[in-house]
Amino acid sequence: MPYFVYNLDGTSSRKCQCSSLPKTWLGHWQRGTNKPLPAKCVAKGCGRLVEVGAHVRDDDDKRIVWIVPFCQYHNKRPSSEPIELKDDVTLCGGSMSIDCA
Ligand SMILES: [Zn+2]
Ligand SMILES: [Zn+2]
Repeated sequence: MPYFVYNLDGTSSRKCQCSSLPKTWLGHWQRGTNKPLPAKCVAKGCGRLVEVGAHVRDDDDKRIVWIVPFCQYHNKRPSSEPIELKDDVTLCGGSMSIDCA
């Protein structure tokens, strides 16, 4: 099953509120998933290096904010553009009030 996500607009001002370092969204993803950061962007077919923890949503519940490790190219795709993810990607909740610890 292909799994598609969409970038969220206007998230650049959102800062990870976790109490441990690094307070970046990539650090947040690692803490939340307890997994090593993938070297490559998790968008399907993308071989660029991971640069940012991107805020995305999926089609299941548009209110839920997820963090995925993306390259800058995929982080900058318009929010209308579906981005297919690789098969074994783990998403991490990205709500500052719920998911930062
Ligand atoms: Zn990419
Ligand atoms: Zn956090």
